[in-house]
Amino acid sequence: MSDITVILLGAGSSSRFGLQVKKQWLWIGDEPLWLFGAKRFASWGFSNLIVTAPPNQVPLFRRYCDFPIVPGGRNRQESIQHALAQVQTPYVLISDIARICVPKELVERILFHKGEASCVAPAITPPDTIVYRNETIDRSAVRLVQTPQLSKTSILAKALQQEEHFTDESSAIRALGERVLYIEGDRRALKLTFKEDLPLLTCLTPPSAKMRHGFGLDVHPFTKQRPLILCGLSIPHAQGLAGHSDADVAIHALIDALLGAAGFGDIGALFPDTDPTYKGADSMQLLAQVVQLLHETGFTIEQVDLTIAAQAPKLAPFKEAMERNLATTLQIPLHRVNLKATTTEGLGFIGRQEGIGAMAVATLGYFDWSRQ
Ligand code: MG
Repeated sequence: MSDITVILLGAGSSSRFGLQVKKQWLWIGDEPLWLFGAKRFASWGFSNLIVTAPPNQVPLFRRYCDFPIVPGGRNRQESIQHALAQVQTPYVLISDIARICVPKELVERILFHKGEASCVAPAITPPDTIVYRNETIDRSAVRLVQTPQLSKTSILAKALQQEEHFTDESSAIRALGERVLYIEGDRRALKLTFKEDLPLLTCLTPPSAKMRHGFGLDVHPFTKQRPLILCGLSIPHAQGLAGHSDADVAIHALIDALLGAAGFGDIGALFPDTDPTYKGADSMQLLAQVVQLLHETGFTIEQVDLTIAAQAPKLAPFKEAMERNLATTLQIPLHRVNLKATTTEGLGFIGRQEGIGAMAVATLGYFDWSRQ
């Protein structure tokens, strides 16, 4: 199978799925669906394998595996073109990552016909009556085309340069006047499209019940020209904190804890302080973006615990308001948010009132899609 590259399309936006989590990021045991799918193909002996990812998630995908990860395009066709640019084999086997339970026998059946046409595609006949523009048509003449499809790389590359927009490889190759061989598909190769499809995908196991923990630490120096912002709250004080954003030290520590638990790196990678977009940024907005990212990637926020170390001002009167702010933005109940304030008994840079430090611990779980 060294003459075939498997391309797994994982850059879709899950717009029809109906859950906050993206399909690629449903957790199967302890790994995301896209990785589960890639490993499945690898276990069948495919050594050339490329995964396409949403462009902004390419660095995240790369943290999980050694498979080449290619940024997807604006649509399926463009994603395939991006992946094809990396392919060096005469054949490509392309599948949607959402068609996660493709049986091995179907792949073997497709490979059996390799070379018999420019594209070998599995297809099934619809079980239901088909009405087209108010007329019942002969359903035996209708085929539902599935993936994976095996194409000759050079012909597919040429086919995708045509002006038209195609929803699969077989249509593009047919439009070029090349031969497509439709073979018997498999009803188990169901494409996960709607959340209602989830119980039908019997190859999937529910997410692991493991919890993931992350830690964050941040320090900012005092400066005279700015307001003091902690956990999104403006706190009356003679000095504020210096920094590229609003310098909300507590939120920065919390963001690092959340990203750490997810294995997504740190705040600097996500919101670089060299990027003018984040100059003076409201850190609560950045936290909201992180919460959305965690939800889209299949995590639940179980609990957070923060400690702010400041000699002055006294934070006790603001503690509850800060906790409420956090609970709202994290979208979790107040009792799962814990905030502590401490001094350093006059010791060190915090004791000398040169700056404020914050530490945070976050606990994440996996969103249990099997209970939806
Ligand atoms: Mg910071």
